[in-house]
Amino acid sequence: MAHTCIHWFRKGLRLHDNPALMSALRDCKQLYPVFILDPYLHNNTCMSINRWRFLIGALKDLDCSLKNLDSRLFVVRGKPEDVLPKLFTKWKVTKLTYEYDTEPYSLSRDQNVTALAKEHGVEVVYKISHTLYDTDRVIEENNGKAPRTYKRMQAIVKALGPPKRPVPAPTTEDMKDVKTPCAENHEVKYGIPTLQELGLDAAAWTLELFPGGEQEALRRLDQHMKRTGWVCSFEKPQTSPNSLSPSTTVLSPYVTFGCLSARTFWWRLTEVYQGKKHSDPPVSLHGQLLWREFFYTASVGIPNFNKMKGNPACTQVDWDTNPEFLAAWKEARTGFPFIDAIMTQLRQEGWIHHLARHAVACFLTRGDLWVSWEEGQKVFEELLLDGDWALNAGNWQWLSASTFFHQFFRVYSPVAFGKKTDKNGDYIKKYIPLLKRFPAQYIYEPWKAPHSVQQAAGCIVGKDYPRPIVQHEVVSKRNIQRMKLAYAKRSPDSAESPRENKSLSKKQGVKRKIPSVIDMMKKKDRKKLTLV
Ligand code: FAD
Repeated sequence: MAHTCIHWFRKGLRLHDNPALMSALRDCKQLYPVFILDPYLHNNTCMSINRWRFLIGALKDLDCSLKNLDSRLFVVRGKPEDVLPKLFTKWKVTKLTYEYDTEPYSLSRDQNVTALAKEHGVEVVYKISHTLYDTDRVIEENNGKAPRTYKRMQAIVKALGPPKRPVPAPTTEDMKDVKTPCAENHEVKYGIPTLQELGLDAAAWTLELFPGGEQEALRRLDQHMKRTGWVCSFEKPQTSPNSLSPSTTVLSPYVTFGCLSARTFWWRLTEVYQGKKHSDPPVSLHGQLLWREFFYTASVGIPNFNKMKGNPACTQVDWDTNPEFLAAWKEARTGFPFIDAIMTQLRQEGWIHHLARHAVACFLTRGDLWVSWEEGQKVFEELLLDGDWALNAGNWQWLSASTFFHQFFRVYSPVAFGKKTDKNGDYIKKYIPLLKRFPAQYIYEPWKAPHSVQQAAGCIVGKDYPRPIVQHEVVSKRNIQRMKLAYAKRSPDSAESPRENKSLSKKQGVKRKIPSVIDMMKKKDRKKLTLV
């Protein structure tokens, strides 16, 4: 019997590499492509205007692509557990398809929806296509535990082989027997809301640098893949946190919303690498996608991954509750121009470079302000276009030296770090125009400029621009001692798993002594900071 099917778009806002959608089209007579605006996920606390705009753009693009296949997108509002059963009855649905989502909220939502579907006699089919691999399979391959090191992750994916190839987008041929029943008043009942309808303040809108949508994602991917030399020589640590235009791909918002499939990205890179000398993980672009996979797998295998408490991998730290510091950081008024410029870019544009994220995350947590990484995570979730539950939590744990990364004595300087790639402070001048007349000598430390220089620059520190909220040299040293105490109290589980490393070394036939944190401190090497 031919099906009446709902394909439920959540992430995965695309037609290419969408195996669940392809499964919907099998033996299908009626297709309802649905997106649900779920108040739990889509609300103004966890979504900035930029993020809303990206989502609305992605939905419009999806609707447009569906129209080309003689179908339409149906946007409905409410809790999926309330909305879907009503639609099952109304449309006489027999099959529900969706892309598998590993976030805890999504897993419990999907479990509830599956139970409700069963009650309505609706068959449920889901497919894995948000990650390169089935994260459960990766965990299984690692004896039931999420790998805690990138090296281990690499060894596992090597054993698993390359990711599955992406599936092509549906064609008109695939849709020839499929109808999407659309009423005259479709726009009224199921249209995509405008930002105004969502009550978003038009005055706060900034230039749209990264428009949402699959077409835009594929265009940007094509553009990057044409730069074969750049792709082949890409090394993440050599890219710059404060270039005036992005030094990495900025494909992350597209991958996060699923406008771009990670597998498509992976295989396009493989094609570019073919027969050429190229960089390798962890620093290559393949390597970046493996970082994503690493954190996704960790988020599935480690309980309470977005929290410190109840997270067995996470070092328990006595972070301060300091709303003033947190607000100054969030609102770009720490008095450190490099930090404030990054936080301004984040608010205005919704994307900042990975190393810029390093700088502000270290500053908020173990470096300077001693505020919990969970607070930073919330701010990033709201403001980042690419805000992603697993990647945000994983990277914040890394940067705060709570999980994965343990060299807490390596602290980014809010002054020296930015100077390495932008001596003149052009990036600071772009995002904090107030400081643009400061000479390069003082642009990172305007409080050190003599009064006459401040006057000539038209900006008096303490009046027009804040004084630094902390003395970096003092607080960073004190914080290292506080971190040392937290490490001394660590449970064996939050320490990097020595057994995991041992078995890896064994497999590779390499004898390797795992250095203790104390060993590493003694070493005091002058090497560059380890980069995620
Ligand atoms: P590219 O360098 O071009 O990399 C290509 C792709 O690889 C990215 O699009 C992304 O999908 C993936 N990737 C790259 N670096 C990482 C990484 N370290 N971890 C996981 N995936 C990676 N990334 C998010 O997508 N969402 C987040 O919410 C997020 N939060 C972060 C929070 C902190 C504190 C830090 C330090 C990093 C965070 N990242 C997050 C990771 C990383 O900064 C971004 O993925 C990257 O900067 C995106 O830019 P790009 O697309 O130009 O990356």
